[in-house]
Amino acid sequence: MIRLQKIVNETKFHNPLKGFALTTIINEMRFDPLTGQRVRIMPMRNHKLPRHDWTPFVEESQKRFCPFCPGHLEKATPRFPDDMIPSGRLKAGQSVVVPNLTPYEIYAAVAVMCPDHYIAMDSISQEMIMDSFRAALEFLKVAEAYDPRRARYGSISWNYMPYSGGSIIHPHLQILSGPEPCRYDAELISHSAAYLNQYGRNFWADLLEYELDKGERYLGRVGNTHWLATFAPRALCDITAILPNRATVADIEDQDLRDMAAGLQKVIRYYDQLNIASFNATLYTARSEDNGFWATVRIVGRYTIFPLVGSDYSHLQVLHDEPWTLHVPEEMAAELKEHFKQ
Ligand SMILES: [Zn+2]
Repeated sequence: MIRLQKIVNETKFHNPLKGFALTTIINEMRFDPLTGQRVRIMPMRNHKLPRHDWTPFVEESQKRFCPFCPGHLEKATPRFPDDMIPSGRLKAGQSVVVPNLTPYEIYAAVAVMCPDHYIAMDSISQEMIMDSFRAALEFLKVAEAYDPRRARYGSISWNYMPYSGGSIIHPHLQILSGPEPCRYDAELISHSAAYLNQYGRNFWADLLEYELDKGERYLGRVGNTHWLATFAPRALCDITAILPNRATVADIEDQDLRDMAAGLQKVIRYYDQLNIASFNATLYTARSEDNGFWATVRIVGRYTIFPLVGSDYSHLQVLHDEPWTLHVPEEMAAELKEHFKQ
């Protein structure tokens, strides 16, 4: 039973932008259909983000030392223990997986996505995404085989450029594996299981069927993957990709990664058109005993309203745990659908 719930709030004031006429302004509260998490939408669709030129930041970062650039990587990044990965590092295509020098989980690795120090959004290739996610998945499999008791839950994430929280410009993925999933991942897993218990059906299958039927948020299908504008966005232009009948790291095949990469590239091109200069993306997985779960990919835009400095995170996210965004998902979907037709 998919129920999409929202509350439309009206606020009245004498508006200085309209000669102080009494004006009604709309905002929305939406509830995530799986987790119940409340989010806010303050529609500012017409607010055009300034085009952000990363060139000076890229040049500045090139003057400093980059551990991921060719010639440095071999000397400046750690090697995995010999009994875990005898060659010290994992490779797929041009991507190389190395241990994270500042781990925040028992198994924390970084996939350096390519030899180039900077890749502009419009140059991100499907091959680069696919190779690096494949290398990252391989690391999760190796970690699980090496330490099945503690390397149980894995995720692969991408912080693209500094607004996303990434500290190194050189494109890289963050790979985590530990005994427990991250907090939000755990919510996805536990609520998926609870939905199955309650209704005897898979939430993600039901959501997909619902969104296909409604059409207003369904963006399109790329091979095995289905792409949706997320009903209750956690951040700007929040997109969810569903990988039907895939749950574990072992379930995800090369073709799934190829489809995922093609879909991500479409979303990233769209972000670039909107001047969204940065993003976060995550591939969520679970374990075979986590019934009712399907793997998903989530990508959200990151930005600042003020050019060059500032943040899109405020008291609402940090101190109230209340995500907010500026775009109405259905309006965004109408535009983004066109990219999925190509
Ligand atoms: Zn570099």
